[in-house]
Amino acid sequence: MKKTVVKFGGSSLADSNQIIKVKDIISSSESRKYCVVSAAGKRNSADDKITDLLISLYKNRDDKSKQEEIFAKIKDRFDGIVSDLNIDFDVDKELTEMIATSKSKNTVDYLASRGEYFSAKILSIYMNAKFLDMQNVITFDDNKKVNYELTYENISREIDRIEKDFPDKKIIMPGFYGSTRDGEVVTFSRGGSDITGALVARAINADLYENWTDVSGVLFEDPRLVENPAIIDYITYTELREMSYMGASVLHEETVYPVSKVGIPINILNTNRPTDKGTMIVSSIPSIIKRRTVTGIAGRKGFTSILLQKALMNEEIGFLARLLNIFDKEKISVEHCPTGIDTISVVVRSELLNEKRQEILDQIKKDLNPDVLSVEDNISIIAIVGEGMVYSNDVTAEVFAILRDAKVAVKMIDQGSSGINIIIGVSDNDYEKAMKSLSKLQSINN
Ligand code: ASP
Repeated sequence: MKKTVVKFGGSSLADSNQIIKVKDIISSSESRKYCVVSAAGKRNSADDKITDLLISLYKNRDDKSKQEEIFAKIKDRFDGIVSDLNIDFDVDKELTEMIATSKSKNTVDYLASRGEYFSAKILSIYMNAKFLDMQNVITFDDNKKVNYELTYENISREIDRIEKDFPDKKIIMPGFYGSTRDGEVVTFSRGGSDITGALVARAINADLYENWTDVSGVLFEDPRLVENPAIIDYITYTELREMSYMGASVLHEETVYPVSKVGIPINILNTNRPTDKGTMIVSSIPSIIKRRTVTGIAGRKGFTSILLQKALMNEEIGFLARLLNIFDKEKISVEHCPTGIDTISVVVRSELLNEKRQEILDQIKKDLNPDVLSVEDNISIIAIVGEGMVYSNDVTAEVFAILRDAKVAVKMIDQGSSGINIIIGVSDNDYEKAMKSLSKLQSINN
């Protein structure tokens, strides 16, 4: 039988109606046996995420009345779910235990992890499934990084153990946390339940990792800027990484590593529209799928470009190394570095530069003595992503024609050496206009 890991995000666990949909999805296929859940998310835009409430419970631990207020909200949420689902789950007892343990542990990670713990407990009772806690299974080293080998070993051993005694039962696991070898709960960074799903998929060598959300897949462009962007049917792990890095929010960025190494595909799906096909994230696009040129577009505002000009720069050996070393020493990562013969620009995130700006400029003057040194803020970077672009001569021409027609001045061009992206810098003021006009590139695929 095919093995599918299913992971449901916070909106899929937000209330009893959503939990019923989750049960239907899991029950509809025998292969959907290994389920990872997030904490209850928002029911509407004004609502709270359970994880946020738990974190603020910790932050307000010295303010009794605030604590009571937050605690009441959490209890109310779970009381509602448990009574709607009509299950035997003692909310009062569980919450009392949580508060008692949190006092002895006194860490934010423990409290933050309880949202996932409750989701998994509630769903396993509701589905008459097996609950597998991830504390003592997902193992973090002392530096709070996952110990992958040990974690895979633990997951596969624990799942085998359950399947031996209960071969037909679904297994429900909380996302987002594990523990150190001493059993101290550690959470991933926010959104980290995606990583748990990937670790489970890798550990059991799954055929597929289904990631259920509230959107029907990865979108060609940012829906806040462009109306109804197309859903990308197939995207490679590498393309997704480019899109995510440039601001498209899809999965937690550490999700892809465990599954991409062994080529387990990820399918992004929508709990509210379960028959939509969603997006498949794969190592390479299957040959039966029509090759497209541009897979997606993503962008971000808020970059600064530092331009240096110096006669005969190209002959000064070590110039680039010395320049990058200045940023390295200040721990500022350099995003792009387009070069000319006697010019070079360094593009960095403005927020990282801000307090070190003067120091860096002084250092550049001292070490490199450029003829011209200028700084431009408020730059947006747009990435046009697609592995198919290397096979086409048209995209670059098309991109610049579109931007010319839209009267957007291009401030920087950088083509990644892998040929999978074209990076363009425009002024922040032109960002929305540029993104909107570039949505025309969707038709280049037809
Ligand atoms: N509940 C955690 C968060 O809100 C983790 C997750 O949902 O993936 O960030």
